[in-house]
Amino acid sequence: MAKPVRGPCPTCGRNRRLTVDHIIPQVFGGDNSPENLRFLCEPCNTRRGHGIDETVWSRMSADQKAKLKHWCFGDSPPLTEDWAVLFEEIVKKRIPGFRRPDVRNC
Ligand SMILES: [Zn+2]
Repeated sequence: MAKPVRGPCPTCGRNRRLTVDHIIPQVFGGDNSPENLRFLCEPCNTRRGHGIDETVWSRMSADQKAKLKHWCFGDSPPLTEDWAVLFEEIVKKRIPGFRRPDVRNC
């Protein structure tokens, strides 16, 4: 077991034990590259869930977005290929942990 990392959480600023978070969640095809990893405290990581915000969305490939679309809508996706519209639909679905980057509630 790796030694637990402690430090200020980049989301809430509290000094806590930090856990590794995949910026683009693995379930949507995010990898283990250093660019896709960051440390968050456990509560922030849990709250985030598979949440996607506009920053993360802008980093996702078409393939990763397609996985997210399927995860949110299953086999009956909305009839749009417009990613901007689709993003708004995904926001409305309120996937766990979703937050717009300008909203800080912790
Ligand atoms: Zn935190």
